[in-house]
Amino acid sequence: MTAATTSILWFRRDLRLSDHPALLAAIDSATHVLPVFVLDPRLLENDTPRTRRLLASVASLSKDTRGALVIRRGNPVDVIPELAQEVGAQQVHVSRETTPYGRRRDEAVEKALADDGRELIGTGTPYAVGPGRIVNQSGSPYKVFTPFAKAWHQHGRPAPAERPKRIPWLRDDVRSDALPRGAKASKVEAGEAAALKRWESFLHDGLTAYDKERDRPDLDTTSRLSAPLKYGEIHPRTILADIAAHSAGRSQAAGTYVTELIWREFYADVLWHQPDSAWHDLRPELAKLPYDSGPETDRLVDAWREGRTGYPIVDAGMRQLLEEGWMHNRVRMITASFLTKDLHVWWPVGAQHFLDHLVDGDVASNNHGWQWVAGTGTDASPYFRVFNPVTQGKKFDPDGEYVRRWVPELRHLSGAAAHEPWKHDNGYDEKYPQPVVDHDDERKETLARYERARR
Ligand code: FAD
Repeated sequence: MTAATTSILWFRRDLRLSDHPALLAAIDSATHVLPVFVLDPRLLENDTPRTRRLLASVASLSKDTRGALVIRRGNPVDVIPELAQEVGAQQVHVSRETTPYGRRRDEAVEKALADDGRELIGTGTPYAVGPGRIVNQSGSPYKVFTPFAKAWHQHGRPAPAERPKRIPWLRDDVRSDALPRGAKASKVEAGEAAALKRWESFLHDGLTAYDKERDRPDLDTTSRLSAPLKYGEIHPRTILADIAAHSAGRSQAAGTYVTELIWREFYADVLWHQPDSAWHDLRPELAKLPYDSGPETDRLVDAWREGRTGYPIVDAGMRQLLEEGWMHNRVRMITASFLTKDLHVWWPVGAQHFLDHLVDGDVASNNHGWQWVAGTGTDASPYFRVFNPVTQGKKFDPDGEYVRRWVPELRHLSGAAAHEPWKHDNGYDEKYPQPVVDHDDERKETLARYERARR
């Protein structure tokens, strides 16, 4: 009989049991696997949709492991080595982390484990093709999306990993901290089963119209898989394999959907090669771009954060973010453009606000999404693109449904009138705020600043 041994599986952005290479590696390495999630107390300081979403996902994973999941509060650099010592685990298995913070943290944990003669073993990443793997012929990373996407298609990827038939969870009496009250009873949709269900329903009912309707915030036509992907409740490999096997997978709509997934991979790759781009401009030529600050700007930023700018589509998006922790991609672009190009505020201010509130808040997609809009990122010539919040609103929310859903002060205006209260005698009857700036003036100001910075 083999002596009992234990490996730890430390869950982070991989809160699932299917298509999980690190889980398979942990099973192969010992007779028992102790599943662990480390709760950083800093994450729990604010009760936002984002925190509630994370906790609901951890609670669901705990159920999926039939209670074997051990939760420990604290700094992973202390918690993981202590736990490894406590249960006598020689190996701690993880899905490799690719963000600057995650990489630094894992290096510190790896060192602390090694000091005690133990190993941190990384298998797989949250991406179909691991960041850093796709390089051009001279071995350099791609800086622009289209050639990256072409190379990504050519690179290929492994098939989804098998779900283990039996997982030998360690069920000894290992102390586990409680999740905050309410997490287990949370009604927030989260967890692997919900993610797979959502994906299947989108694959069968939503995908075929995706290319035509994906830009409409008034319709529920995108997959809403960003949070499941963020927490790893589903792996993109699973999605890509299902698309390839499904008849709808050959459609143009499926191609568009895969391209969106590649944006996620691209931004993770850019961040991998240039970790500083998380909080610093990627394009050095715009480093001299002047931004506004001071009490008046703070007042305007507060109006933006709280959805009181007087521009209906911007306010609808910002209020949805606070209430639901999610915002449609088109509206993310419009609200980000408004902060950077109408209020002339440096993009990290907005990126931080989004990260604090988005249930899918992800440093690679978010901060590079912001840089793309601000004109400091991976797009080749974006400085002249200033989104007009009124024409964008009328084009993508043609009946004003989205605006009325999130801005009660505009519900008395029917159809597209909700986008232009200033054109109607009763537009301000319900005390909707007047525009905080004049878009046409601010657009000219932005273009002038960009031109000066580029010179
Ligand atoms: P779908 O349209 O169904 O797309 C499927 C998946 O493709 C998404 O779940 C996502 O994983 C990926 N994807 C789609 N568009 C993009 C994109 N432009 N960039 C990267 N990946 C994409 N996405 C995040 O996951 N987390 C963020 O923090 C985030 N912040 C953003 C901030 C700004 C300023 C902008 C412009 C975009 C941001 N995005 C972010 C990208 C995009 O808005 C969301 O992924 C998308 O709205 C999520 O909805 P969905 O799952 O229904 O998307």
